[in-house]
Amino acid sequence: MERGMISVDRWSEGSQVYFLTHLHADHTVGLSPRWNKGPLFCSRISARLFHHKFPGFDTSLIRSLEIGQWHSLSLLSLSTNSQTTVQVMAIEANHCPGAVMFLFRGAFGVTLYTGDFRWEVTSEIAQMGKTMLLNALKNDKIDTLYIDNTYCNPSYSFPSREVAAQQVVNIIDSYPEHDIIIGIDTLGKEDLLLYISKMLKVKIWVWPERLQTMHLLGLHDNFTTKTTLTRVRAVPRYSFSVETLEALNTMRPTIGIMPSGLPWKLKKVGSKDKSCGLSSLNKETDNDLHMNMRNRYTNNIEKHHQYIYTVPYSDHSCFSEIVEFVKFLCPNNIKGIVSSSLSYVDPCYHLHNIYGTSSLCRKHVTKEERAGVEGECKATLACDGSDDVKLKRKRIKQYRLCVHKTRVSLLRRFNRGAKITSEDCSDD
Ligand SMILES: [Zn+2]
Repeated sequence: MERGMISVDRWSEGSQVYFLTHLHADHTVGLSPRWNKGPLFCSRISARLFHHKFPGFDTSLIRSLEIGQWHSLSLLSLSTNSQTTVQVMAIEANHCPGAVMFLFRGAFGVTLYTGDFRWEVTSEIAQMGKTMLLNALKNDKIDTLYIDNTYCNPSYSFPSREVAAQQVVNIIDSYPEHDIIIGIDTLGKEDLLLYISKMLKVKIWVWPERLQTMHLLGLHDNFTTKTTLTRVRAVPRYSFSVETLEALNTMRPTIGIMPSGLPWKLKKVGSKDKSCGLSSLNKETDNDLHMNMRNRYTNNIEKHHQYIYTVPYSDHSCFSEIVEFVKFLCPNNIKGIVSSSLSYVDPCYHLHNIYGTSSLCRKHVTKEERAGVEGECKATLACDGSDDVKLKRKRIKQYRLCVHKTRVSLLRRFNRGAKITSEDCSDD
């Protein structure tokens, strides 16, 4: 898409229309109550939550989109200096309340911007999104796919949220006399909390602003701000730390659970051994590092500290789901939307290996009965529109550099005993 027309989750650029995929902090950088650059399109749920996050925002700027329906916009093409029509459809992203992908169609072709998304095969919402995409695309192919590449690395493999939610319940169940605290963000993981509430027949304590969000989402019965009513509390992620857990345990036995797709390492307070049992990590190869992370997910639950568990409950797609999604769409070009991801590698690198030949796409098209697609899917994932040998070599070199940087970054974090903070990723 040409510059100056449409911005998605970008708020400082000069565009004619703006789109918000969802209200997580890393997608609203630059938005404020005083922002007034132009009309802002989002889902109905995001529109409902918007005023809570940005009180005083000029409501006349907000346009809520019906999910699964095409909307037409008349915009000015700066390259031709004439009016052009752009169609847009919001599609369920299965990430957090209100999260949507945006499918655009115009003179520039067809573009899908996923925002953050989870493509769980077992999820009804993902199936709904799949049907919407099929109906919307018909015989069209996606020219450019902007994809949530948070976990676009084969190392990231984790179970469905349904499975991970049961793991959380099992942990809580195994500590009947303990208080429980669960680290969450200002939005997201509501389904996990509801599941815990229903399975264990308890209310969940949340902080007052979070209770308001729950009420805005129509969740009135399962949450409370009265600590005396429950032993299970959902607390802001920034307040979830070893120090907090240790302080709480001086008063009452308390277990902390962090539902997260990211590795989460702890430092030993007062210890010189900041690697926290990871001293051999320095000698590891990249494969070992990936194996370590993979083990985390196959073993699923990790206890990093006597009071803390992490469970791989993620609102982002794991690598295999990203692969499924790309096979499903067979786009011509792919671009990652997360440039600061912990394991960032240009998504083209891994995905190019997956369908370097068109066979997977052919199979997919047959399977999905998209018989009308002409000429089969011959996508070569020409990142940035080119696939010549020189560029491929350059990309591989860049990948190696990137992996090196990523690993160094990981090792630095592990050796510092660092927690992956909300600054690293505001939601996972
Ligand atoms: Zn998000």
